[in-house]
Formats: sequence, structure tokens, C-alpha cells
Amino acid sequence: MKGYMGKILFVDLTSRTHWERDLPDSMPGALIGGKGFGIKLLYDLLPPGTDPLDPANPLVFVSGPLTGTSAPSMRGCLVSKAPLNGMFDDSYFGGHFIQEVKYAGYDAIVVIGKAYSPVYLVISDDRVEFRDAAHLWGLDTYETCNSVKAGLGDAMFRVCCIGPAGENLVKFALVDFEPHRQAGRGGLGAVFGSKNLKAVAVRGDKGIEVAYPESFTEVVSQAHKELADSGDTQEFAKCSSVSLLPFSNEFGFLPVRNFQDGSTAQAESMNAAAHESRVWMRHWACAGCPIHCGKMGMIKRGPYAGAICDNVEYESVGLIGGNLAVNSVEAMAFINQTCDKLGLDTISTGGVVGFAIEAYERGLIDEASIGGLPLSFGDHKSILELIHQIAHREGLGDLLADGVVKAAEGLGNGTSGFACAIQGLETPAWGPRGSAGMGLAYITGDRGGCHQRGFPIGYETSGSWPKGEMADGWRLDGKGELVSWEQNLLAALYSLTICEFGRSGISYDTYRSMLAAATGLSLSEEEFLLVGERIWNLIRLFNLREGWTQDQAGVPQRFKEALPSGVMKGHAFSDEDIAALLEQYNAARGWDDSGRPTSRTLGRLRVDELMEPLFEGK
Ligand code: SF4
Repeated sequence: MKGYMGKILFVDLTSRTHWERDLPDSMPGALIGGKGFGIKLLYDLLPPGTDPLDPANPLVFVSGPLTGTSAPSMRGCLVSKAPLNGMFDDSYFGGHFIQEVKYAGYDAIVVIGKAYSPVYLVISDDRVEFRDAAHLWGLDTYETCNSVKAGLGDAMFRVCCIGPAGENLVKFALVDFEPHRQAGRGGLGAVFGSKNLKAVAVRGDKGIEVAYPESFTEVVSQAHKELADSGDTQEFAKCSSVSLLPFSNEFGFLPVRNFQDGSTAQAESMNAAAHESRVWMRHWACAGCPIHCGKMGMIKRGPYAGAICDNVEYESVGLIGGNLAVNSVEAMAFINQTCDKLGLDTISTGGVVGFAIEAYERGLIDEASIGGLPLSFGDHKSILELIHQIAHREGLGDLLADGVVKAAEGLGNGTSGFACAIQGLETPAWGPRGSAGMGLAYITGDRGGCHQRGFPIGYETSGSWPKGEMADGWRLDGKGELVSWEQNLLAALYSLTICEFGRSGISYDTYRSMLAAATGLSLSEEEFLLVGERIWNLIRLFNLREGWTQDQAGVPQRFKEALPSGVMKGHAFSDEDIAALLEQYNAARGWDDSGRPTSRTLGRLRVDELMEPLFEGK
């Protein structure tokens, strides 16, 4: 089918072999690509019950049918079983890496096994090399990326790599791409590290054919027009995602001091205007994206002056700025850059560090374990020191490196009450109090409590959604239908590997039209949503197979305490709320009371037809 390259590359690091398989004909129609291909490959290839850091856990880079074409704002998808919580994990990255994977001739690359010593992979069209990475081990992501590129002597190679955090199997280690984009919440950088895989470099020379070139050009123009006409998109283009800060602060969604509060009087010192005037220097973009939401900058004053840095996205402003009370944009940018270089997820890092500071302030952490480090909110120097300890698993950092849930188990003394994670994933910068829908999206998220698998806040605050009126965040009614609908829609869109910010402007009809023109796969709105629902159900089956139970679908005590500030002040979750939301949600999905898809639902979605493995042996 046009739009696809028709091949999947398999690489076995243990045997240092590689082979190709044809993309099965059934895959595009049933699962489209991206998230859909990712779950099918993971479901088939992961031996049930395998530890995420076992060599048998596959690492899958997946594209979509629009990736590498002129369709705007497309990204790549990285899939594996997550070290942090043992669930399915899909994470999306920008840059140019995944486009090169397609130009090399592949819809997906699957890496299995473990090299006996550190290696990096070099993939150039159908040539695959295993190169010694001993000289790269220990380097940060920027140094690694630059060193690999310099060694290859070809600027067209695109590189992804891990930093020290991935090498040290920190369970929220990320993968850096080129190196200004990151992916891998849930610890996919640690999967790299567990395989002794430091980096992957890829380039290719093949073209991508589309089914109907003239109509494809027309509908891509339409997508560009929609992006240009969208106020939300233009706001992202000008100010990046930090433009969301005033809204989240007003409503009380912003994490402040380990989610002890939901808004801060310091928000203005952290907003887009502060970053723009004091750090940002120019815009930049991922491949083929007209939005240019990336900002390159330089810290101009203070102890970190001279450091070149990326913009700090809203999530990182929330978890570093609000949650750690680091109000200076210079310190925030430097901490953000430090996490990127060490290969750490800023959301989880902000979560575990905020937890550690609160535990320290309550006298629940032994000072000797942090080398006499005087931890306190807002002290960026001690925060930076603790972040280095985490990446290198030193002192208290070793405990924190396994995530906030494990850290609370290790510390005991009631610390789990303020360990802010849902389904084992540290809570993003949208505190759920004030949004019953967001709480439900977190407790039912396919990779844990993630804001990108359903974001009902916008519908709740506006009072409407595509099917009519929507109750506000205090109320539970309608949330099961809303959240399951949005999860299905996002799963379908992620099968195209869309960028979330592009979604703010491009209509769903236009996405479907681009898919049809590129591939000939013409799906009605209902059929498109059904693909998303199929993917979501397949992922639930995977998570159940790997040991997930609905007991994990709860919130920590912190979110059962009344929100102290903001428009939604006073809201909290009760156990009864959680039970009622799950009941609604399971009914909306056609699942039983324990969250298991019924045979009737699986039959309606034809998931049972996907149970046969795609490939036997090599
Ligand atoms: S909107 Fe930003 S993150 Fe998304 S593809 Fe464009 S430049 Fe990349």
C-alpha cells in the first residue's frame, strides 16, 4: 500500500544479526501505523511476563503512513514495555529521525537482545552495522550525538541516544533525538541501557510514494491553511506550550510544591513572556512542521549564564518551576537542559525531587543519605545536585531512580500519601483535582497517568464537547463517555504519529483525508474511531496479560485532600468518586466490572482476529 515502505527491520544485538520482514497486508487497514503497529509488534514479540529490562523486551521505532511525506507536524513513536510501571509504553518524538527510518526503507525497526558490551547501531538503507560504543559510554546526550555524527562524517545521519541515566537504568530515563527532542516517559532510555545500546544513527535515500499525488498536495495545503488560521496553533508557534501556564494556574491545575497547591503567585515570573525576553533567541522546527514551536536560547545572566538551551515546555515548567518552586527562568532552563543531557524525564524528575524535598522537610529523610545536602523548595543548586545523584544512582538518588512509588515504599513512614504518581507514572503538570475527567483519564491511561492519552480539561472548562454539553470538573456525569471517546480518537491519531500541537489546528477530517490521499485507505469518522478503539482494547489486553489489575486505578492521598486554591478550590477525589468513574468508564467501553474487555466487545472490534502472531521465527 502506498504511504508505507512495506518492510520492518529486525536487529538482534545478542547475535549481531539483522533481517527484514514484509509488512503484513492486514496491518494498515486494521491498525494504520504508529501506536497501532507498536502494540501489535510488542504484543507478539514480548514473551509474556518478561521484565522490561530483560534482553527479550523489544524496543520498537515506528512511523506512520504520513511520516516523511509533506504532511505537516508528524512525529515518530517509540514503543516498549515500561521499566517504571511494567505497562505498555508508547512515546512520541519530533526531530528528523523517524523520517530517515522511512527513507531507509522501513515502517518500523525492532531491536531485541543485548550486546555483550556497549554498541551503537548505524543503519544506512539496508546496511546495518554494530559499532563499539566504549568511547561513548558515560557521555551525556549532547556529547554522544555530536560524537556519533562527527565519527560518521555525514551530516545527513539522524541520531538518537541515551545519557548516563539510561546507562544506569534509571526507571524514568529518556531517549534524546538529535538531541533537542526527547521521548520515553516510563523509562525507555533504561531499555536502551539494559541492551548496552548507546545510540542509533540512521539515514536513507528512498522516496515515499503516495496513492493520489494531486489530491494529497491539495489536502496538505488545506492542513497548512488550518494551522495558519488556528489561534491556538499560532499561540504554540509564538510561545510554545508554556502559553498554557496562565490557564492552569488560574484553575488550580499547576503542580506547586509537590502538588501541595494548584496555583502560585509566582506564575508571572515563569510565563512565556519571561522566557521570551530573557532566554529565547530563535524558533526551530521538526521535519516538515510549519509551527516552529521549538525555541533555542541562551541564558544571559546569573550563575548559569552562557549556557545554550532549549525552551522549557509547559510540563517541565510545571514540574521544575511550580513543583520545585524554582521561579527563575534561567535556573529552570538550566535544570531542564541538565535533565536532557543526563537523559532524564523532566516530569518524573520533578515529581521525585518534589517528593524528596517534602519528605526531607518532614524529617523523613536521613541527611546522611543525601551527603548533607540541604534540600529545600526553590534551592536550584541542591536540586541540581540531587538530579545528578539520581542519574548516577548515588546516595538517595539510587532510591529515587526507581520512581516515586518505589521511593515511598523504601522510605515508609506514610510517604506514599504524597508520592504523586498514578498507575506508577509520576503525575504530569495537570493536577487532577478540579477535573473529574482528568482523574479518570489518569486512572485509565494505557501507559499510566499520562495527560496525552486523554485531556478532558478543555471540554470540562468550556462546557461542551463534540457530542453536546459537558459537565464541569466537579461533576462525574458524562466523564466515562467523554474519556473513552477521546482515548479512542487519540489512539487513532497516534497511529498516524501526529504531533499534539498540530492537532490544535488540523481538523480530524483533514487528517483522515491526508490518510486517504496518501494510502487509498478511506475511513469514515466512525471507522477511524473504531481503529482507535481496537488499539485501545488490544493495549488493555496486553496490560492485563502483563499483570495489570484495576486495583492500580487509584489516586494517592494527596489528591484526596481539598485543592487549596484556584477556580476549582475545594475539589478532591474520594474513593467513591473513583469507583463511580470506573463504573461509568467500563460500561462506556463494554468492559466488565474489573476492566476486562468482554468477548462481545472484542468481537465487535475484531480484536480476536489480531491474536495470531504476525511472524514465526526469523
Ligand atoms: S509543533 Fe513543535 S513539536 Fe510538534 S512537530 Fe512541530 S515543531 Fe515539532
